[in-house]
Amino acid sequence: MKKLLKGLLVATVALGIVACGEQSGTATVPAMAGAEPAKIYNWKLITSWPKNLPGLGMAPENFAKLVEEMSNGRMKIKVYGGGELVPPLQVFDSVANGTAQIGHSAAYYWKGKVPAAQVFTAIPFGMNVQEMNAWLYHGGGLELWQELYEPFGLVPMPGGSTGNQMAGWFKKEMNSVADFEGLKMRIPGLAGEVIKRLGGIPITMSGGELFTALQTGAIDATEWVGPSNDLAFGLYKAAEYYYYSPWHEPGAVLEFTFNKQALESLPKDLQAIMRVATRAINQDMLDEYTAANNQALEQLVDKHKVKLRKFSPEIMAALKAATHAVMAEEVAKDPAMKKAYNSYSKFFEQVKKYHDISEKEYYLTR
Ligand code: CA
Repeated sequence: MKKLLKGLLVATVALGIVACGEQSGTATVPAMAGAEPAKIYNWKLITSWPKNLPGLGMAPENFAKLVEEMSNGRMKIKVYGGGELVPPLQVFDSVANGTAQIGHSAAYYWKGKVPAAQVFTAIPFGMNVQEMNAWLYHGGGLELWQELYEPFGLVPMPGGSTGNQMAGWFKKEMNSVADFEGLKMRIPGLAGEVIKRLGGIPITMSGGELFTALQTGAIDATEWVGPSNDLAFGLYKAAEYYYYSPWHEPGAVLEFTFNKQALESLPKDLQAIMRVATRAINQDMLDEYTAANNQALEQLVDKHKVKLRKFSPEIMAALKAATHAVMAEEVAKDPAMKKAYNSYSKFFEQVKKYHDISEKEYYLTR
């Protein structure tokens, strides 16, 4: 938030200068007749999502539109769906090397390169979206994230949230922990490591590949997002069991990545507009999911006869125990992961105390 406020301040000051210029009647004001026209920037934004996918895919489209409006047309951003300019899971590298100036993706896709990045998407059994945003904007999380990406010449910013995600689609019923043995499941990030501990085979692939992989049996199960996005992909046609309780992505946060050099070469007001627009999109995506998921779930169950199932307490306990073991191992092998996780955990412990008597109590009583 400090950064955002600083950005707003810079933008206000910049506007102030323009206003003063107008009053004094100097010819240095870009907006005045006869002055140099304002420089137009044409930027590229690459994503990991199919073009215009509801929620995830619309966030970068909305961002581009908002930035163009806020900048009065000085910043034009062309959005590319996954695979249009670069493969969906090469967003990080392609923004770092300047192929595009902005990316929209999820930090946990980069776990092979930057393991600690996963902390900034989701930790199984960790913070929900409200808590994640609080940690990122007011608890030092965003500063740590930016420090982590600094060596790659990237500036990350939160880029939306799906809220709590469904446990996923399974071709068979999951009655016991033993059912995870040999299960080929598309599940990225730390949750994939958890599935591995239960004997499963975690696979990371982009969203666009999911349906075919599930339908052909290349995978036995997949998590994706939640009712709204899962319905759009038609996953119900490839697997009949749809499981909760949510555990693996309790408040998944998406990311915008900016090429640092490109971002810093912009006038200060455009930099501020970028920051403010990411914050607007970060909230808007969550609102869109909250509005859309209910109707989509109804449609899945009533119209498409999806079998909604809940993991047993035994399965949930095994997933939780495996999560603790995975986190202990991850923290022990990577100092950056340790630093990020320590900050995350400390914040989580604190926020939980109040949420246990506020949010949780309210959910149980309303
Ligand atoms: Ca997911």
